[in-house]
Amino acid sequence: MDLYDFTALVGGGKEKIVKYLQDSLILRRELYCQLCQRDYTMVKNKVSIVGYMLRCPGCHRKRQLQTGTFLEGSRLQVDKFVGLLFLCAHEAPIKMVLSMTGVSSGTAIQWYQYFRDICSWKLVNSPTMLGGPGKIVQIDESVMVRAKYHRGHQLRAKQCWVFGIYNLGSMIQTQKRGTWSSLSNAMRRCCFPSSSVSSL
Ligand SMILES: [Zn+2]
Repeated sequence: MDLYDFTALVGGGKEKIVKYLQDSLILRRELYCQLCQRDYTMVKNKVSIVGYMLRCPGCHRKRQLQTGTFLEGSRLQVDKFVGLLFLCAHEAPIKMVLSMTGVSSGTAIQWYQYFRDICSWKLVNSPTMLGGPGKIVQIDESVMVRAKYHRGHQLRAKQCWVFGIYNLGSMIQTQKRGTWSSLSNAMRRCCFPSSSVSSL
């Protein structure tokens, strides 16, 4: 989404933003009432921060569109949410986020951390292969050793390798506890065979 798509989205008001978030599976569109065995329908609601609620046409029970989603429990207005999402996706610094959205620094930092957590979760659960014939991947690694009680014998302590791979702007970072062999295993898992590897 570029700046023009974003301004068209927020210019369309809450209705358009809510539809976008529902299309993106961030907000709930459907809910089934087990009691009445009927589908909930969406109704306007001034109390809800998204401006809508789901209501069962049988028992009239109401549920939030955020129920069971990433936004459940959030008090952030949806226009602020998509603003933070857009700015985070374009790697805007926190200072810019504050002046452009009006949220507090605590809120901006907290949401940036949520977004990073989601990206990390997605990367871990959807492994991506980098490199390939004729392509170069750059790697960087370092090993950390925690000495117990701040005393010697560090070479005998358990090693923790932190390993990163970069490929044309894409990045995967994995952290493996273990030795050099686990690092080479991580590379085999993340890189296509015949990749050229360059160490930073
Ligand atoms: Zn019902």
